[in-house]
Amino acid sequence: MQYSHSRLSTFEQCPLRFKYHYIDEIEPPEIEESVEAFLGSRVHEALEKLYKDAKFQKVLALEELLTYYNEIWKKNWGPAIKIVKAGYTEENFCRMGEAYIEAYYKRHAPFNQAKTVGLEHKVLIELNGHTLLGFIDRLSYDPRTDTYEIHDYKTSLHLMPDETARTDRQLALYSIAVRSAYKTSRVKLIWHFLAFEKDVVIEKTDAELEELKRDTLHLIKRIEGERDFKPRVSALCDYCEFRPICPEWKHLYKVEDLPPSAYANDTGVQLVNRYVELQDKVKMLSAEQEEVKKALTEYAKREGVTAVAGSGFKARIATYGDLKIPKDREDDVRALLQEYNLWSDASRIDMFRLRDIVQSYPFNPDNPNDSSWKPWPPELIKRLAKLLKKEENVRVYVRKMDNE
Ligand code: SF4
Repeated sequence: MQYSHSRLSTFEQCPLRFKYHYIDEIEPPEIEESVEAFLGSRVHEALEKLYKDAKFQKVLALEELLTYYNEIWKKNWGPAIKIVKAGYTEENFCRMGEAYIEAYYKRHAPFNQAKTVGLEHKVLIELNGHTLLGFIDRLSYDPRTDTYEIHDYKTSLHLMPDETARTDRQLALYSIAVRSAYKTSRVKLIWHFLAFEKDVVIEKTDAELEELKRDTLHLIKRIEGERDFKPRVSALCDYCEFRPICPEWKHLYKVEDLPPSAYANDTGVQLVNRYVELQDKVKMLSAEQEEVKKALTEYAKREGVTAVAGSGFKARIATYGDLKIPKDREDDVRALLQEYNLWSDASRIDMFRLRDIVQSYPFNPDNPNDSSWKPWPPELIKRLAKLLKKEENVRVYVRKMDNE
């Protein structure tokens, strides 16, 4: 299989989508495109035209470029473009693209900072017998610094932190191909975050690229060894073209257009409804059981008894004090154990064990006669005891009274 950054990302996002797309090569049941992807394509096309013309010493005026953008928007727009975000229209997204182009134009005119080597420039990355394919939005060369530049336009409303750029895979993979094709180590990776008028620029070191090659090969090995290709539900399902056949969504699609009576008669719908009904009953009953337990405990206290007779049954009420770590003090407990270099012990023995140690101090909670037991420092126990909260726990044991 020929890999690419987007194929690798698809596997990371959802192995099943990867299988549908690249192994089974299933034609998506509905070919839809998100408006975000549509906007990205049109902005890319407009900037491609800008730099293509500039190569021929024809620098488009901003108005000309925006006219071109609006033309290709209208020409390509159609009913298959999906707007998922409620409350926004085609017009909103189109204007967003215009604003991105205008701001980019004003910041970068007259577009002669470097020489354009290629637009939508195809690269092949060779990794130990695997070939990865990629397309660089714009590859340019700056003769003043003898540096190649890989430009990537981002129309996302998510601004990648500078630190994430260092670990981004896509442009780094492209830089491996550029280094090899042009026999250079001077390659800049440049992300243009158009919505934020911000450019992020980095250069990868040899060591970083070696690590990237190792990680990428490891991922390819994982893909090739994958057998299950399980669905991974996430917000990205909203944009997945395979929802109608994906087991996570298929039934929802099957019943969504049924008339109400057929919907209610569907076996799946009925089973889910029954399950939810029973779940609610169980919740209600267990709340009721808690109330009765409370009343029984109070009754036993009032009567000064620990066992109460019923019809053929007897209930024994056992009360014991317990130490708990309140949720809002968990970090303090962890920090305290770290201060005494005991966190690894505590994580191994878990919170129940911690409670046992505090409660049975200075003895070994598992064996009070164990003379080799080294108790924790008394100061630590005191501080821990202050963080833990004593709670009274009640258990009710019911058993038959046949022989009593
Ligand atoms: S709908 Fe979601 S879970 Fe199903 S294949 Fe697509 S991304 Fe994966």
